[in-house]
Amino acid sequence: MILKDSMVVTMDDERNVYESGYVWVKNGAIYRVGDSAEIGEVPAGVDVRSARGCLVMPGLINCHSHFSNGILRGIYDEMPLAVWFSKGMWPVMEAMERPAGKAGAELALLEQMTIGVTTSVSGEFGTPNGDTIDGVLEAVHQSRIRAIVSRMTIDSADESSASQAVPRQYREKPDDAAKEVRRLQRAFNSDRIGVAPEALGVLRCTPEMVQAMHEVSVETGSHFLMHVASSKEEREESYRRLGHGSVAEMKRLGVLGPKTLIAHAIWLDDAEIDHLAEHQTGVSHNPVANAYYASGFARLAELLEAGVRVGLGVDGASTNNGQNVWETMKMALLFQKERLSNASFGSAELALELMTRRGAMALHMEDQIGSLEPGKRADFIVIDTERVSLAPAHTVISNLVYSNDPGAVRDVYIDGEQVVASGVHKYLNRADVVDGARVAQGHVLERTGLKSYLASRSKWKWKGAGMR
Ligand SMILES: [Zn+2]
Repeated sequence: MILKDSMVVTMDDERNVYESGYVWVKNGAIYRVGDSAEIGEVPAGVDVRSARGCLVMPGLINCHSHFSNGILRGIYDEMPLAVWFSKGMWPVMEAMERPAGKAGAELALLEQMTIGVTTSVSGEFGTPNGDTIDGVLEAVHQSRIRAIVSRMTIDSADESSASQAVPRQYREKPDDAAKEVRRLQRAFNSDRIGVAPEALGVLRCTPEMVQAMHEVSVETGSHFLMHVASSKEEREESYRRLGHGSVAEMKRLGVLGPKTLIAHAIWLDDAEIDHLAEHQTGVSHNPVANAYYASGFARLAELLEAGVRVGLGVDGASTNNGQNVWETMKMALLFQKERLSNASFGSAELALELMTRRGAMALHMEDQIGSLEPGKRADFIVIDTERVSLAPAHTVISNLVYSNDPGAVRDVYIDGEQVVASGVHKYLNRADVVDGARVAQGHVLERTGLKSYLASRSKWKWKGAGMR
């Protein structure tokens, strides 16, 4: 198949852009990329399509989310800490059973993929319901997205800080967690899906658990994930218990390395940034989720300066609330400008790189994805540049990032297969997914008592059924 006559943003090492270019796909991989005038002879049987008025670029890479949380959208806004503990956190985990995991994942995946995400990373709890993640992985498989799905585990018995404490029924033994990761890998690993172990954090997990999960990743060749340096409170608790920050603790435990991907990484000292660069550890920067919980501004400028492999993530719908990767690109830059009091920081080009080739580097998958170059997977998106929000098109890259119109994404290809055509997903039916999410959320709200909390949250006089 050849897509031609469109602007082609390659994101290759030289950042070549063709104003009227083509992308030639063969057996799921990129065969050739270049100027439309130079396609040359095309063998009979090759499907040649014109994409005039469009821009073709690599598929977007979302380095952090929680697919199952799709159905938790809208619930956590300005939630008081007391409600978060009594209803929002542990009771929700209890209520998230397999069908809820699947429904949440279908919603998050449909949202992400129709706006251009072709590779996505998601963390899913393995306790207390052991098969919720199976529901998630079924949805991932069905959606045809390229994904890394981590099984998150927690086992710390330290209850000295309320926010880091883990109730007994959610803890598990390292051996049991390792067995479960291996079971999921056998059941779901494929060309596109990789199941990985995740120790949730250095405070919510014992050192034995962190090392056991890292060991599973070494033995199975998978990624190893963690959430670290996510809040000032976590940093202070880490210093109190361990005498240093979370990344320093990861270094001490020997779990930093190229297969390691950490989410958030907001509160880091200079030495920790150097450790991340030295060990080529990937970082997912999640600016919108960080702001949602007022967790602080990450040191993005310093991470990039140090040569750390940084990508961007939306995080789950319970901490964002959308899965809008375009908004995440924009806010990554805006928050950093504010933090540095420097309006000249970064560029729209940097934002797009963070969501494509740099995201691929954070995942150590740059040999397969993140740019349009011969030999790489044919993961790319087609954007309608004739939208009002993207006009005048003279500054199209700036407009894509700062004018921010996710609806401009028209088609999405993964391994050369068109999975989204004119905004319609080939495998996830919109009406079914939306209805399934409504039903699944209803169960969770009833079971956790969040329904009555939401009814009391609104200050307006509602005359109808039960929406808030
Ligand atoms: Zn997260």
